[in-house]
Amino acid sequence: MKTQIKTMQSLPSFTVKQRIDRLKKLAKVIKLKQDEIITAINQDFSHRSTHESLLAEIMVCLDEIKYTIKHVKQWVRPKTWHSDWKFYPSKCSISPQPKGVVGIMAPWNYPFNLVIGPLIAAISAGNRVMIKPSEITPKTAELTKTLLAEVFAEDEVFVVLGDVEVANQFSCLPLDHILFTGSTQVGKIIMHNASENLTPLTLELGGKSPVLIDDNYSLKKAAKSIVGGKWFNAGQTCLAPDYILLKKSRQADLVQALKKEIQASFPSPQDNPDYTSVVNPNHHQRLNQLLGGIEDQKIHVIGGATDKGQKILPTLVLDPPLSHPIMKNEIFGPILPIISSENLDASIDFINQRDKPLTLYLFSNNNNTIQRIRERTQSGSLSINETLVHFAQKNLPFGGVGMSGMGSYHGYQGFVSMSHMKSVYYQSRLNFNHMVRAPLTNIKEKFIDLINH
Ligand code: NAD
Repeated sequence: MKTQIKTMQSLPSFTVKQRIDRLKKLAKVIKLKQDEIITAINQDFSHRSTHESLLAEIMVCLDEIKYTIKHVKQWVRPKTWHSDWKFYPSKCSISPQPKGVVGIMAPWNYPFNLVIGPLIAAISAGNRVMIKPSEITPKTAELTKTLLAEVFAEDEVFVVLGDVEVANQFSCLPLDHILFTGSTQVGKIIMHNASENLTPLTLELGGKSPVLIDDNYSLKKAAKSIVGGKWFNAGQTCLAPDYILLKKSRQADLVQALKKEIQASFPSPQDNPDYTSVVNPNHHQRLNQLLGGIEDQKIHVIGGATDKGQKILPTLVLDPPLSHPIMKNEIFGPILPIISSENLDASIDFINQRDKPLTLYLFSNNNNTIQRIRERTQSGSLSINETLVHFAQKNLPFGGVGMSGMGSYHGYQGFVSMSHMKSVYYQSRLNFNHMVRAPLTNIKEKFIDLINH
């Protein structure tokens, strides 16, 4: 890996023409091989809904490529303006420059999208790229390597396959930037490893994304959106709703609304091809253990009596103890706790006493409530009256804050994160700077007095 990175760093970065050419080829290969990609992910998951793969792995990537090709020429153009009047008529400019070789480390939950999305950003900025896909989805990782070899030469994009030890070595490389997507826990290891080379980082991490339902908001509408966001990919989404906060008096009605919506969206989930499995036996066991110690009457399993294979049925948990692991750790599966909260202030306090989430979902039609939540809570993003789709907004930066991550990407923000936005100063021929330089004569002192306002 070390020799590879040295070779790649010695080569010139992509011209804009090359970036567009590679992105077009990438789109062509994804379209051509979309069935193979969907099959590989399906095999890695033991079962992954074809529709979910189509939407979240194929369509999102193709849209991002199209958007990038359309805008990249404009993004690379230096932006220039006149300096402050004291230095007039000199000019200042920001000139984007490729960072060099960008490292991409990806998780397993959207194993294709979370390699290709960061890759598009890195290529748009002109970088060469080294990629380490997740070892938990090996078929997708191998296919991704094969497909990328059809588009890029090895010294343009290099894919490293291997286990956690390889991932660890990868994050120690003297890369010019690392975009890591994964857990907060491993994010800390990556930050530690990268510090040796002072490699800049974008950390796209996880955490517990809360849902807050306002007192007058329709529970039917909220349930529709929550079910769509929570049970997509069986809850294995970084920004899946992790728990719901609402008034105790509305809890029973919300449970009914959620059950109805789950039954309508995923009838017979065990056999429903649109209901995705948990990725592997380890995570299956982890999620089942997560329910340990919670009283039976607080657990509502929807859609059948038993789990089948690696699937876990949609499960609601009513008011689990706040000290229980289910309320301490990111759930990352098809289980959704509902927590009673007295009022809006109590919900705000609840959220603010915990790590800053990746996303906060608010269901409300009240502008004052929306403003209070926007101003008094911190989260990577705030999504009002809908779940998940903010991820697909190409002109909206995506990223966390605090324990849910640092930096962001998508669209122009991805280009900026992967570029060095170089400051350039152009001194004009007309230059009065000598008037503030030694020797400071009387006339210069008067001049300094004059401009010192
Ligand atoms: P993970 O942190 O276990 O693994 C992510 C990557 O890190 C993998 O490529 C893996 O090979 C590597 N890795 C694992 N252990 C390592 C170690 N000790 N040293 C160096 N590298 C190591 O995450 P995961 O289980 O693959 O994914 C789930 C997590 O990712 C969840 O927390 C989820 O919220 C988060 N996630 C975040 C986003 C986002 O965009 N913010 C998107 C998807 C997933």
